[in-house]
Amino acid sequence: MNKDKWYNSNWTIGLVCSSLLPIILTFIVDFIKKIPILSTLQSLITESIELIRYCLNYEVTIGNILLSFLFLFVFLIIFKYFYKSQSNEKPYFLEYNNDNIKSFYWTWDWVVDQNTGKYAISNLKPHCPKCNTNLIINQSLYRNPEYECPRCNFETQVDVNFKRKIEIIIIDNINRMKKEENK
Ligand SMILES: [Zn+2]
Repeated sequence: MNKDKWYNSNWTIGLVCSSLLPIILTFIVDFIKKIPILSTLQSLITESIELIRYCLNYEVTIGNILLSFLFLFVFLIIFKYFYKSQSNEKPYFLEYNNDNIKSFYWTWDWVVDQNTGKYAISNLKPHCPKCNTNLIINQSLYRNPEYECPRCNFETQVDVNFKRKIEIIIIDNINRMKKEENK
């Protein structure tokens, strides 16, 4: 390999990096200040970046540039970790898992739909209006579904789409909560 060429290309990379880095660092500092993370961590990151800036102004060497990239790398790891933990925050409606709708007390779970990745209602159960026990749903092709209480023998017939309607009402309730919150 030509020695001059090797030196020149490295020198060029160093020059480009050292002129671009302050701009990138300013951008990162401004960006961090906007993220609602722990203030101690925030100042730790911004101070590290200030240190890199100082090093850059002091002397542009390959060592300093490598150091900058090391800091940048560490920053990205920390940022990725915090971004991940923030995006893992559960949506507020997960706490809404029971309600009185159409004369019945209902309970349900929220599960992530494997196909859409969205939350879906699962395990939607009606409770007995008299004794609050989970009702048995007797499904038949030829009759409307029948709700039966195993404890107090309460019995009632509901229309075919009754459960589906309850699901729609639950989702509509959440949308209304969202609207109320945004007001
Ligand atoms: Zn009952």
